[in-house]
Amino acid sequence: MHIAIIGAGISGLLSALEFIEEGCSVSIFDQQSAGKAASWAGGGILSPMYPWRYPQAVNDLAKHGKNLYLEWNEKLRPISGIDFEIHETGMLIFDQTDFEIGLNYAKLHNEPMQACEHLQQQQIQQINPRISNQFEQAIHFPQIANVRNPRLLKSIIGYLKQHPQVQFYENTWIEKFIIQNAQIHAVESTRGERFEADHYVISTGAWSEHWSSQLQLQIPIAPVQGQMLLFKGPENWLPTMCMNEVMYLIPRRDGHIVCGSSMNHLGFDHRPSTQVQQDIYKASLNMVPALAELQIVKQWAGLRPSSPTGIPYIGQMPNIDNLWANFGHYRNGLCMGPASAQLLRQLVLKQTTIVDPQVYTPNALVSTL
Ligand SMILES: Cc1cc2nc3c(=O)[nH]c(=O)nc-3n(C[C@H](O)[C@H](O)[C@H](O)COP(=O)(O)OP(=O)(O)OC[C@H]3O[C@@H](n4cnc5c(N)ncnc54)[C@H](O)[C@@H]3O)c2cc1C
Repeated sequence: MHIAIIGAGISGLLSALEFIEEGCSVSIFDQQSAGKAASWAGGGILSPMYPWRYPQAVNDLAKHGKNLYLEWNEKLRPISGIDFEIHETGMLIFDQTDFEIGLNYAKLHNEPMQACEHLQQQQIQQINPRISNQFEQAIHFPQIANVRNPRLLKSIIGYLKQHPQVQFYENTWIEKFIIQNAQIHAVESTRGERFEADHYVISTGAWSEHWSSQLQLQIPIAPVQGQMLLFKGPENWLPTMCMNEVMYLIPRRDGHIVCGSSMNHLGFDHRPSTQVQQDIYKASLNMVPALAELQIVKQWAGLRPSSPTGIPYIGQMPNIDNLWANFGHYRNGLCMGPASAQLLRQLVLKQTTIVDPQVYTPNALVSTL
């Protein structure tokens, strides 16, 4: 079976891995170089921020992220030569208004990832002596990890590019579908090239609304800009991830610390702004004052594929037998990515599914006819 995947972000790349594992062949298309959009720009926290603020359907996929990435890292590393570092730092959250609900959520769900304890200042300082002493309490999630997402993408792309069942088409914007008798017959690029497959997957992230007019559907996906700031310190300088007022710090093993983020509706503009950089800088120092001593080495912004509830669309698109969705992951596409791709593969190949697929179905998309 041959699968054409439009969009080589984490959603498309992991889908490709899932399909080739089952013996399918894959063509994967991207308008630019693979793995350079939101999936590169993100922070890589392997849990929704404040999971209790998200629908259960988001957490049901996200909870598999860490373990599935551990498995993929073992499988890909010997071939790609890249360790994408699933860094189990745990997370401290300082928002007092979330303490009770966070602790209750942990009890209710009894998931290792949600395990949570209430800490007083002395315990906070033992776990992470860099934290500002203005924080007298925190809730601590010891099992939350982060993945080094630029390396993750490099590893998957490297693995896929050497695989005999995979063809990559970069710098290829897929403009439209060629539809015959409620089936996609081919996709067509802006250069007029046509590519045929048995099944077609839309994993076009923030650009997914593009398909609305041709498919005569309302596809409610819009780009939401998120900006990041990168500090560099000595190795293991910051022992835990930190979160306060929706701003976070994510330490990598080699001393890089990714700080973010903002939420702005600016269309497809992904240029970082000085004002937002200052806001992130201030929020970061508020949690860890000693960051002022470190160098800022980079800043950037990316476009999250926002969906109305944060629940992605995964499954068969309405009215067309061989067209499938895996888009709209909004703020959680890296942690939901592995389970989303697995669910997609299971639906296409008519296998038992990892979760009940109903809540993700694109059948809910409204027709504009
Ligand atoms: C600042 C920031 C921080 C984030 N932090 C986290 C986090 O800590 N944890 C987490 O889980 N998630 C996080 N996210 C969210 C996560 O990055 C996204 O949900 C995820 O990357 C979406 O992946 P995707 O593959 O669907 O989209 P993308 O990575 O955007 O990939 C879509 C691809 O499709 C291509 N494309 C689009 N249209 C076409 C077309 N017509 N033809 C050919 N190619 C096309 C694009 O070029 C692009 O490469 C963050 C996002 C941002 C911006």
